Amino acid sequence: MNKLFTVILLLSITSVQLISQKKAMNFKLIDLPYAIDALAPVISEETIRFHHGKHLQAYVNNLNNLIVGTPFEQADLETIVKESEGVLFNNAGQVLNHNMYFMSFKPNGEGKPSGDLAKAIDEEWGSFENFQKAFITASTSLFGSGWAWLAKDKHGKLVITKEPNGSNPLAHGLIPILGFDVWEHAYYLDYQNRRPDHLNALWSILNWEEIGSRY
Ligand code: MN
Repeated sequence: MNKLFTVILLLSITSVQLISQKKAMNFKLIDLPYAIDALAPVISEETIRFHHGKHLQAYVNNLNNLIVGTPFEQADLETIVKESEGVLFNNAGQVLNHNMYFMSFKPNGEGKPSGDLAKAIDEEWGSFENFQKAFITASTSLFGSGWAWLAKDKHGKLVITKEPNGSNPLAHGLIPILGFDVWEHAYYLDYQNRRPDHLNALWSILNWEEIGSRY
């Protein structure tokens, strides 16, 4: 009788697990770590309201819909970006890209990185100013919609990559550290066609403590 009870108990636990495994992971819109108007005038309240509240929310909703019925229903975001393709890859990439992007800012940035990341930037580009020039060149020369990323390889060497659409350095085996969004929705309300002006202004609101922790 005891054995039968144990078997029934195990079967019922297993069936509960099976049912719960059928439910897809539900990704959520991140909360901003600052007030919606805190980055103005570099990024206006209106741009944040649309970029975070509308664009990122849409990518989150699309991702939640697209993973249903795929092998990625229980996968974390990084795994989906590394292993998926096509429209699922681009939506998952956009959620990861924007989560990292919005966490990269604070109202009064430190201006420069410090510690290990600062050393690695100096080793690769000679100075922070040279890195800034190279990063802006990559960001402004990217044709169409996409991202410029500072990333590191598995040996800790820094690289700048240009990612089309929703791609992320994770897709090439790199660790993403800092991404500038060069989709027009990131700057058009505030800067219209002046992409370089927007990108140059971003340096003053970077949270290098957070960005450095990714290195
Ligand atoms: Mn964006």
